Amino acid sequence: MVGILNNKMNIINDYIYKMKRDGKSDDEIINFALKNFRANITGRDINDIIKSSKEFDNEFKRDAIVKKEKILLFDIETAPNLGWVWGKWEQNVIDYEKEMYILCYAAKWFEDGKTFVRALPDFKEYKKDKENDLFLVQELWALIDEADIVIGQNSDAFDIKKVNSRFLYHGLTPPSTYATIDTVKLARKYFSFNSNKLDDLGKHLGLGEKVETGGFKLWKGCMDGDKKSWDLMKKYNKTDVDLLEKIYLKFRPWHKNGPNIGMFREGLVCPKCGSNNLQSRGVSVNKTTKYRRLQCQNCGGWSRTTKNIGDNKPIISV
Ligand SMILES: [Zn+2]
Repeated sequence: MVGILNNKMNIINDYIYKMKRDGKSDDEIINFALKNFRANITGRDINDIIKSSKEFDNEFKRDAIVKKEKILLFDIETAPNLGWVWGKWEQNVIDYEKEMYILCYAAKWFEDGKTFVRALPDFKEYKKDKENDLFLVQELWALIDEADIVIGQNSDAFDIKKVNSRFLYHGLTPPSTYATIDTVKLARKYFSFNSNKLDDLGKHLGLGEKVETGGFKLWKGCMDGDKKSWDLMKKYNKTDVDLLEKIYLKFRPWHKNGPNIGMFREGLVCPKCGSNNLQSRGVSVNKTTKYRRLQCQNCGGWSRTTKNIGDNKPIISV
């Protein structure tokens, strides 16, 4: 194994990678290789060094790195369905009086600015109709439409489907395509916590906790138009998104096969966080191919380049 992984060109390639990252020229790299590997460097190696060096050239354009992706963190609070029932326990709903609608949303552009909250009373329409979420829904649609990636706690199962239902109800077409990241899914996939609820994750990881709501009466207060209830609801909603961002930041380096931030940036960057502070750390292999393995010095996540750096000898695969 060691023989396969640590051949001369692999070691030299690691140096080339680091030197390119630090802005060294091809001449400096060749001189470095000759100085350090003199006895082992052949004319063919020099050609390989120049080739590798050129390949890394385009990938390191430090100044060209601009954050282009738009990542939205969001959370909604909804009014419950209002229905008729005959009794209290284990009832079937006889009929709906009013279907679910959105009371408020909190959102934040990831690692950018502050969390903002918008609730029904923030819209003019509220004076006429306390249950009309059209304008709030339109605003939320525009935010999601602008986003490349949308992050939420249990958002794949709940928030996104709920907002889609409201988009459709109000006659809106789908927002432009986006990738989603659901922190509950990450919690389930990579870890085994006692609870994957936002509050429990926040407490367990020492990141904070949710605002105490006092239960259903807060929702009832909002639906009755009570100002204090709305203030608390907005605070509750906002705190959830603040906590969501902190939890996502913890999960991020563990997230494999998530949306690739490199698709939105120039140059070679960490697919998880977009930093170009990458360290070449050996190789990543599968059955037939060998790749340069990288560790991000910003988020700690591991990744690899896409080019096969294995020997060109034929390998039989199953
Ligand atoms: Zn990273």
